[in-house]
Amino acid sequence: MAARGTQCFLTVTRKYSSSADKNVAFLGLGNMGGFMAANLAKKGFAVRGYDPSKEALAAAAKNGIAEANSIAAAVDGADVVVSILPSNKVVLDAYLGKDGVVQHARKGALLIDSSTVDPNVPKQIFPVAIESGKGFTDAPVSGGVMGAQNATLAFMAGGRKEDFERSLPFLKAMGAKQFHCGEVGSGQVAKLTNNMLMGITGMATAECMHMGIKMGLDPKVLLDVLNNSSARSWSTEVYCPVPGLVPTAPSSRNYDGGFKNELMVKDLELASSMALGIRSPIPLGAVATQLYRIVQSRGYGQKDFSYVFQLLKEDAEKKK
Ligand code: NAD
Repeated sequence: MAARGTQCFLTVTRKYSSSADKNVAFLGLGNMGGFMAANLAKKGFAVRGYDPSKEALAAAAKNGIAEANSIAAAVDGADVVVSILPSNKVVLDAYLGKDGVVQHARKGALLIDSSTVDPNVPKQIFPVAIESGKGFTDAPVSGGVMGAQNATLAFMAGGRKEDFERSLPFLKAMGAKQFHCGEVGSGQVAKLTNNMLMGITGMATAECMHMGIKMGLDPKVLLDVLNNSSARSWSTEVYCPVPGLVPTAPSSRNYDGGFKNELMVKDLELASSMALGIRSPIPLGAVATQLYRIVQSRGYGQKDFSYVFQLLKEDAEKKK
């Protein structure tokens, strides 16, 4: 996509609008979507969900989400559709397929896609949605599964200002910060930029923590030093890859229930392809992409991306 200056505007007000939109269809009830849909229901919206996984649907039902057996059934009559899905293809099929959202949502509905995808995906959906009388915004999220659970996510949206404003009561029910980043697709540009940096700092934290520990430092002392020094980052404070140091980090629960390594690879590949299109050099992004791919090829794609620490540790142990 062409390089273009986009400016992000932060909206942090916690007031809820008295919008007439009440009925929400929610597509994708996985690690993120399950909690996000539950938060919408908790804030008083009527939520009907669809996910091909029976387990995901059953878990959501316990949180007050009505079950639908197809996308068409979920979006039928809904004022707003929110989706958070795994890939470009799944999102394009879900929105533009013959049994999809654009075909079956009512005229006047607002469609909000929170998946992380190529910026060209929302650019393909937007004109079709507008042509059929619906609003559409790309609104990917940051904050991880904990952010989804605690409704502290940051949303970065692209699209028409009026659609962004209409989406705010929903985004505020699921998160703490909302940014309008510019035209459609610009939410994805912000998100992929964030995730490439998160992948690089995650890899760097794993590498440096491993080195310091192997040199004999107490892991807890080392982390305290980093968190009070110039290397401090989200990876050291919130998401430490060394098990047992940050109790809420995925590393402390066997690297489960976080941001899957395979999703990190997907996002780094999307960011790399975006960078290639504008000839923006990404030497560190390229190394990070390769390293997380190696984690995946060794069979750990379903583990949280901070599992890279264990890979470095295993390799170091083999060289003893
Ligand atoms: P996940 O694999 O846990 O959940 C995805 C869900 O989508 C699954 O339950 C799957 O069955 C469902 N699904 C697949 N096809 C569908 C369809 N056609 N209709 C409805 N549902 C369908 O993944 P996740 O971790 O929840 O991530 C989802 C998206 O959010 C990805 O794009 C990811 O990059 C992004 N994201 C994840 C995190 C995180 O920390 N996990 C953070 C920010 C953004």
